[in-house]
This record gives sequence, C-alpha cells and structure tokens, in this order.
Amino acid sequence: MQFEVSAEGAELQEKLLAFMDECIYPAEPVFEQQMEAAGSPEHHPQIIEDLKVEARARGLWNLFLPHRTEWTEGLSNLDYAPLAEISGRSIHLAPEAMNCSAPDTGNMELLTEFGTPEQQQEWLRPLLEGEIRSCFSMTEPDVASSDATNVETSIVRDGDEYVINGRKGWSSGAGRDACKFSIVMGKTDPQARAHAQQSMVIVPLDTPGITRVRNLKVFGYLDRETHSELLFEDVRVPT
Ligand SMILES: Cc1cc2nc3c(=O)[nH]c(=O)nc-3n(C[C@H](O)[C@H](O)[C@H](O)COP(=O)(O)OP(=O)(O)OC[C@H]3O[C@@H](n4cnc5c(N)ncnc54)[C@H](O)[C@@H]3O)c2cc1C
Repeated sequence: MQFEVSAEGAELQEKLLAFMDECIYPAEPVFEQQMEAAGSPEHHPQIIEDLKVEARARGLWNLFLPHRTEWTEGLSNLDYAPLAEISGRSIHLAPEAMNCSAPDTGNMELLTEFGTPEQQQEWLRPLLEGEIRSCFSMTEPDVASSDATNVETSIVRDGDEYVINGRKGWSSGAGRDACKFSIVMGKTDPQARAHAQQSMVIVPLDTPGITRVRNLKVFGYLDRETHSELLFEDVRVPT
C-alpha cells in the first residue's frame, strides 16, 4: 500500500509549517491574553478571526474536506492526515484558523454528501466560508450513547413539520455565539429494525423549545468548546 503524499500535499505541509512558525505560535500568548482579559471561557477572541483571514490568504482553508464541491477542491485523507498532525500542535488555534475544527468538519461532510441544494446553500456555504459554526447532538445523558441504537430522542412527523423531544449531552459548540444549528439524531421509526430507526435533522438553535441547560466540564474545567447539555421540548422544524 502506498502512503506517499502527493506533490500538492507536500507543498501544503511546507506552507502550513511556515504558517505555524510565522503566525500560529506567535499568536498563542495573544490568545491567552485575550481570553484572560475577557474573563469567560466561552469568549471568542479576535486573534482567531485574524488568523482565519491569514490562513485563507495562504490557501490553508477547508483542507479537511475530501470531496470536490462548488466551493472547494477536495483533498485526499492521505494528504490531509499529516496536515492535521501539524495543526494539532496548537490545538486551540490552528484547526479553527484553517476552518478545520470539529464538530463542524463532520457536519460539513454530512451536508456535502447528503444535504439538499437548499440545505447546502443555507448551512454548508456559510460553514465553509467560516461565517457560522454548528454542533452535533447525538449523545444523551440517560442512555449508553456509544451505541446509537439506544438514543431515545423522538422525531415525529406532524404534517409538514418534525416535532423533536429529548435531552442531549455533550453538544460541543452549542454555546458559541456563532453556532447557528445542530444536526440532531433521534428516532423517527421506533418500530423499524434496530439500525433503521434513527435519522438526523437540521435544527436551527433559535427554534423555540430548545434550552441550553448547562455547559459541561472536561476534567473539571470549562473550555471554549462549550460542551452543552441541550433540552428539546416540542421543537418544530420544517420537513
Ligand atoms: C470532550 C467531549 C466532547 C464530545 N462532543 C460530543 C458532541 O459534540 N456531540 C455528541 O453527540 N457527543 C459528544 N460527546 C459524547 C461522546 O460521543 C460520548 O461520550 C461517547 O459516544 C460515549 O457515550 P457515553 O458517554 O454515553 O458512554 P457509554 O455509552 O455509557 O459508555 C461508557 C462505557 O461503557 C462501555 N459500554 C457501553 N455500552 C457497552 C456495552 N453494550 N457493552 C460493553 N461495554 C459498553 C463503553 O465502551 C464505555 O467504556 C463528547 C464527549 C466528550 C468527552
């Protein structure tokens, strides 16, 4: 099996190493200062926005996406893996500066592969532009969620709407001001065979009936990822 990166991948590694040395590492103390001055673990510091502009200008943008879209070229996983390894050296800054951070990366892939043209225009395009953020709501506090067949959130069709009821834990990113929607997993057909009961819907976070219950700590600390517990009560979204 061949694990050689392409010429394009090798060139991107050089560019990324230069970006890390020239921009990311010098920005780390600035990030710390801006976070400390804000006094909130949920603050979005200006330095991230400045780095986004610089990363994009250097062609280091959306590299995680393996698929060619209207807006991106697509890069193989083989070429991307070493880039993720390098950007991970400054985990709080580099991936977000390059629009390559979770949970948006997974959501962008989902929308690229399965979104309708309307959903792609409304949600994927601004995500790829780095204008908004998103979150993913699968895990539930009441069930062992590493097995998604346990998920209990209900998604019931009512005319031309879906009605969602359930409690989700660990919806990372839901507390960000820029986070505009979640992709929510629930059961649409509890009578189907075990692995065909579930589906996912796009839920704008300003939909009535969503409560952000609390921000969950990781190893005792709150961080900028805003891992949120979310309550969905009769939340209605269009089909
Ligand atoms: C920092 C962080 C960020 C996260 N972000 C997100 C997010 O954005 N969105 C989201 O939906 N979730 C998120 N999660 C949740 C994560 O996906 C879940 O914690 C994970 O899927 C495990 O589910 P659980 O916590 O319910 O553990 P459980 O499923 O209860 O598992 C606990 C333990 O029991 C074991 N176990 C479970 N079932 C069985 C079985 N049948 N037999 C034997 N052993 C079993 C598991 O292997 C594990 O060791 C995040 C978690 C963390 C820590």
